[in-house]
Amino acid sequence: MALHLKWFTFNPFSENTYILYGDNKECILFDPGCSSASEENTLSTFIEEKQLTPTRLILTHAHIDHVLGVKFIAQKYKLKLEMHIDDLPIYESAGNVAKMYGVPFNQGPQPSNFLDEASKIELDGFSLSILHTPGHSPGSICFYSRHNNFVIGGDVLFNGSIGRTDLPGGDFDILSESIKTKLYTLPDQTRVFSGHGESTLIGNEKLNNPFVKA
Ligand SMILES: [Zn+2]
Repeated sequence: MALHLKWFTFNPFSENTYILYGDNKECILFDPGCSSASEENTLSTFIEEKQLTPTRLILTHAHIDHVLGVKFIAQKYKLKLEMHIDDLPIYESAGNVAKMYGVPFNQGPQPSNFLDEASKIELDGFSLSILHTPGHSPGSICFYSRHNNFVIGGDVLFNGSIGRTDLPGGDFDILSESIKTKLYTLPDQTRVFSGHGESTLIGNEKLNNPFVKA
């Protein structure tokens, strides 16, 4: 028995949207970035074909590329939005940012539940712990499954790179500290599923990441 993770790469920013599901068919949606009818259809078709029941809608952080599909998912599956409170200002400014980039955007619902390291994420008998990893954005959080050996990491750590720190609320020293204390302390074989690009292993990044050394 294990959890299953499916991802789609959506929208002009090539953002990874994750669907985490159990053998019991319940699923959690992370960072829905679907931004067109065809991307919405791709996501909902997968959910239908697998006969999944979405139970939670969660953000690793609230940058525009990670929230483009929030309204669609929240409405279609009647889900409340959950995120870290420190990214609320970013979430609330998403409409303006979308205008700046010229991407179509419908503002989703206000978050109904704020997550922090004390929050519990349960799925099909497994629990994920939450790591608060600010630096790319103040409210960036990662979701770690010790049993399944993975972390859904948002834009904190990438395969061979790290999240940018030049956006509002970003800070390289804070990001570096988050990566060293919260991610590089996980077992080397932990697979990191990031908000962009290919997955990687903690052990690989500790050895090879050019931006943050272990
Ligand atoms: Zn981001």
